[in-house]
Amino acid sequence: MYIVQIASECAPVIKAGGLGDVVYGLSRELEIRGNCVELILPKYDCMRYDHVWGLHEAYLNLWVPWFGAAIHCTVYCGWVHGRVCFFIEPHSEDNFFNRGCYYGCDDDDMRFAFFSKAALEFLHQSNKRPDIIHCHDWQTGLIPVMLYEIYKYHGMDTQRVCYTIHNFKHQGIGGVKTLWATGLNREAYYFQEDKLRDDYNPFALNYMKGGIVYSNAVTTVSPNHALEAQYTDVGCGLGHTLYLHKDKFSGILNGIDYDFWNPEIDRYIPYNYNQDDFEQKLYNKKALRERLLLQAADKPIIAYIGRLDNQKGVHLVHHAIYHALNKGAQFVLLGSATEAGINAHFRHEKQFLNSNPDVHLELGFNEELSHLIYAGADMIVVPSNYEPCGLTQMIGLKYGTVPIVRGVGGLVNTVFDRDYDQNLPPEKRNGYVFYQSDNQALESAMNRAIDLWYQAPEKFQQLAIQGMNYDYSWNNPGTEYLNIYEWIKYKW
Ligand code: ADP
Repeated sequence: MYIVQIASECAPVIKAGGLGDVVYGLSRELEIRGNCVELILPKYDCMRYDHVWGLHEAYLNLWVPWFGAAIHCTVYCGWVHGRVCFFIEPHSEDNFFNRGCYYGCDDDDMRFAFFSKAALEFLHQSNKRPDIIHCHDWQTGLIPVMLYEIYKYHGMDTQRVCYTIHNFKHQGIGGVKTLWATGLNREAYYFQEDKLRDDYNPFALNYMKGGIVYSNAVTTVSPNHALEAQYTDVGCGLGHTLYLHKDKFSGILNGIDYDFWNPEIDRYIPYNYNQDDFEQKLYNKKALRERLLLQAADKPIIAYIGRLDNQKGVHLVHHAIYHALNKGAQFVLLGSATEAGINAHFRHEKQFLNSNPDVHLELGFNEELSHLIYAGADMIVVPSNYEPCGLTQMIGLKYGTVPIVRGVGGLVNTVFDRDYDQNLPPEKRNGYVFYQSDNQALESAMNRAIDLWYQAPEKFQQLAIQGMNYDYSWNNPGTEYLNIYEWIKYKW
């Protein structure tokens, strides 16, 4: 099949979170299985150009209709660790992608409406006719809308769209301006309840809702989150729309790229290891301590890696640090916050704990260091308020780092409690799960993990190895996505 992925991120060249990892990992898997895969991305000024090989101008004269006029764009082509990527660079005063950041601008709705329009224009003008267009998150929600309302009538009538939602919280809210800009001219029509009108603000257009309504198949990133999104508040108001479209909606667990996240071949860690020479992990622990100036002591290291925001349960992250210290463990945090208040809080925390030899808080984004932490820590804590899939627990498992997670979203599909999971035999269990979002629940799970580490180290090691035996690669998700592509290609 000929598949085009259109997204606002692709790791490692453009990565703000898990979306980038998924877009890269899925594309790679699909290509390994003999499909032709291409990616279309914005050309941001701040992306990691050192991860693009052979970047060159591929399409010089892309004129993208915008507000009745047109914006001139150049499309670049380059290889990101083997994947063919097209990067769209608009030349206009708006400077859509030259902002020194990927997201967080006041006109994000217009920036990504433009990107969606430009991506479709690029396919159209360059005569690319993929079997499947796979779009991701709110940034590309307008693509199926424009495909079926405009481009279908310009020779793009055999393309089918799979739309994957990675996070329901950010839905892309625009207004009538979006319609004027993109050439979706019938205001009254698009503002209908069964089209793009936001369910809670009758004057707003919801891009993600448009993506759900117009795509041939809609997925989210774990089976449990697919249920939560339809029936609980984590659907952030889209539950009803999902329910109406439930026949084409499903959850597919993300994979992780074992070429990149694999302690056996990881280039960023000093000692490679696998289940058979697990003791090598101890040397990585030592290296981690040296790197972060933690004292050498006979203590477990608990880690947190991830964004610091409300989704991730920052109140529990904060508590986990102090509880770990109370229980005689060490704590390493690698995280970045975009919200000023949370950022200030953790900066203050870092200062306060500065002289404590058992804790290190690293505030910022550091890919290389994250690998050493996964390899050197004994446990990784993921206390999210909600978690569509979650990659850090799966990476932790691969590195023999026992996850302690809250039982929400994809965490339920990937971590199985050592003491209480009734559905699996003990030799298949791989971590610790708690359910309530309060300190006591977190403490009880941390206590069980820390106590096992101290009291029965061989059993703790066994648990870590059981986690390493799980296959959370792209193997299974790759098959599931291909099944969906086949289904929409031949059914519609
Ligand atoms: P998100 O909600 O951010 O997508 P995921 O768990 O799905 O969360 O994915 C997080 C990804 O980003 C993982 O690959 C994790 O290692 C990485 N990551 C998150 N924060 C940082 C950071 N501060 N430094 C390095 N890597 C990070």
